[in-house]
Amino acid sequence: MKILVNGFGTIGKRVAWAITRQDDMSLYGIVKTKPDYAALVAIKNGIDIYVPSEESLRLFEEKNVPVKGLLTEALEKVDLVVDATPAKIGAKYKDLYKQYGVKAIFQGGEKANVAEVSFNSYCNYEQALGKNYVRVVSCNTTGLLRLLCTLDKAVGVEKVRALLVRRAADPKEIKKGPINAIVLDPPNPPSHHGEDVKTVVPNLDILTYAVVVPTTLMHMHYLVITLKDYASRAKIISALEDASRILLVDSSRLSLKSTAELVELARDLGRPRNDFYELLVWENSITVNGRELMLVQSVHQEAIVVPENIDAIRAMLKLVEDPLEAINKTDKSLGITGRLIN
Ligand code: NAD
Repeated sequence: MKILVNGFGTIGKRVAWAITRQDDMSLYGIVKTKPDYAALVAIKNGIDIYVPSEESLRLFEEKNVPVKGLLTEALEKVDLVVDATPAKIGAKYKDLYKQYGVKAIFQGGEKANVAEVSFNSYCNYEQALGKNYVRVVSCNTTGLLRLLCTLDKAVGVEKVRALLVRRAADPKEIKKGPINAIVLDPPNPPSHHGEDVKTVVPNLDILTYAVVVPTTLMHMHYLVITLKDYASRAKIISALEDASRILLVDSSRLSLKSTAELVELARDLGRPRNDFYELLVWENSITVNGRELMLVQSVHQEAIVVPENIDAIRAMLKLVEDPLEAINKTDKSLGITGRLIN
């Protein structure tokens, strides 16, 4: 199965790399608008570059950076395109993908109606089977859904109230800084994240507030969850431990208490790009009081949606029909073991 990645930024370059780790699909190429350092790195790694327009082609020719062809030429050859262009651009490409009869995955920056299904592997893998257009929801929504669908299967979730402390920009996004404020996002809550969760789990009672803070490393979510049933703290911990894409962070044992130290840990572990594909739940924050559960979790925004993109490819192309089998296959290929330090 030949996969094209359109948009080679934060998400696109990671998804492209992840595709090269799979044994049942191959990376046909990537689509780039500009001949920058990322284009040179792609070429160094033997990845073919396509461009979306004649204008881009000229830019590449001016800098002598080799291009394999136009996006439309690639679309004639591939089975599926992962669209990782900036928010709202993906939807503009949909007609082109349709015209060439190519299945497409869109990212969380697009509206839900761009696709037939909004997707998270822990919640609704089966709904994406054989579909032509799927949206992998955003990093914050992926973090919320992984936790909530895991808890729902183990105990049942009745109600969720959450505060999201959002990173202001990705590390490379110099155009968004410097900044010095905590910004209400939006000033008139709720934030859109709760509604976005409902594009995957429609009947959940969830309300989210969000603020943006001057950091680039990770998001942090503060959650108050009403469970459908009484559950011990041990039962919650055991349910989270059983989910390979959720890691418990024992801040006391590890002597760490910040996103900065988590990134340092990823560096020390030699993780590719210092990425955490997993949702990180702060174990010592888990408090159970009757049916009320409180906890804090961290989301590495640059990486968390990567495994879901790979799973979505498998579901849409019906390469693997069983959700757990698909999740395990992707996990194995990306080194996701369910343990923070093996
Ligand atoms: P990005 O800006 O890092 O990358 C987008 C890439 O697309 C850039 O390389 C840009 O040059 C290229 N591009 C711009 N216009 C293009 C066009 N017309 N055709 C082809 N390529 C074009 O963006 P990103 O952060 O990777 O976000 C991509 C999508 O993923 C968005 O929908 C976003 O909401 C979503 N998402 C982002 C994050 C995150 O934290 N960065 C997390 C989850 C989901």
